Amino acid sequence: MRPFALEMADTPAAATNYATQSAGTYLAGGTVLLDLMKLDVIEPQTLVDINALADTYGAIEADDDGITLGALVRMAEAERHPAIRRDYPVIRDALWQAASPQLRNMASLGGNVLQRTRCSYFRDVSWPECNKRAPGSGCAAIGGNNRRLAVLGVSDHCIASYPGDFANALVALGAEVGLRSADGSERRVPFEDLHRLPGDTPEMETNLVPGELITAFHVPAGPWTRRSLYRKVRDRTSYDFALASAVVALHLEDGVVAAARIGLGGVAATPWRAHEAEAALTGRPLDEAAAEHAAEAAFAGAVTHGGNDFKPELGRRTLVRALLEAAAMEVLP
Ligand code: SF4
Repeated sequence: MRPFALEMADTPAAATNYATQSAGTYLAGGTVLLDLMKLDVIEPQTLVDINALADTYGAIEADDDGITLGALVRMAEAERHPAIRRDYPVIRDALWQAASPQLRNMASLGGNVLQRTRCSYFRDVSWPECNKRAPGSGCAAIGGNNRRLAVLGVSDHCIASYPGDFANALVALGAEVGLRSADGSERRVPFEDLHRLPGDTPEMETNLVPGELITAFHVPAGPWTRRSLYRKVRDRTSYDFALASAVVALHLEDGVVAAARIGLGGVAATPWRAHEAEAALTGRPLDEAAAEHAAEAAFAGAVTHGGNDFKPELGRRTLVRALLEAAAMEVLP
């Protein structure tokens, strides 16, 4: 790890000023950031500790319009919240299946959605070829070890997979993300627009402007939120990243899909909403044939690179299972 300056922000204005003026990197739980600093993957000159802002950005508020999760809420705290457990079970599922209890006690929701890929070439600086870490250097994973990497949203410059779980629930549920800029202005954008596809600039992972701070996530209420779940397939059953995962939230009327919200994890370059699968299901009774049809639609655009040839099939099976389990859920009125 390299030397760095540490600024302690005690107001939102101080945080965004520090981050803007010194090109600082925000520090909350530090569970990803410090890891990458120790590996020399990133070398920030300045860290801006925002943990003192928990009074402003550390609450969970639920009402008839939806639920707002402050960016400094810890993962474990959100997972235990009664409104989430009752009305948004997919968020609870996605949180408790991510990382170890120790990490979930530390990690903030804002930091969690910004976690970086687990591509081994990105995390190991002895590999010179990685367009995400060293723009223009190439991609060692194309033609290399890519078993865990993405098949949706990839480019010729990067096939890294987005590793998170919680973000897949946010994207499927049509959440918005609240942002605060250095001039004090605030804006909300669809969560689906927060992350960028790799294209020919894989080093640019989000649409955040320099110094912009994530303040909250706003998840709208909907008749699908209680019938929702997250299914995650991984090499080992705890503390591992998804090979494939599926978020499903359904509004059924007499067994027919009135509305579906579907997200995919472990298989895509960003948190991934499967709009084609949602459209394929809407208006149909949810049986095995309909689920398989939706899964085909979800992976119609998949591109594989040898080591990850198995992923479209695994992803389809994961989604079919999640859809059928969601349809069979007992749901509170
Ligand atoms: Fe780097 Fe992306 Fe290629 Fe991995 S897949 S080596 S992160 S450019």
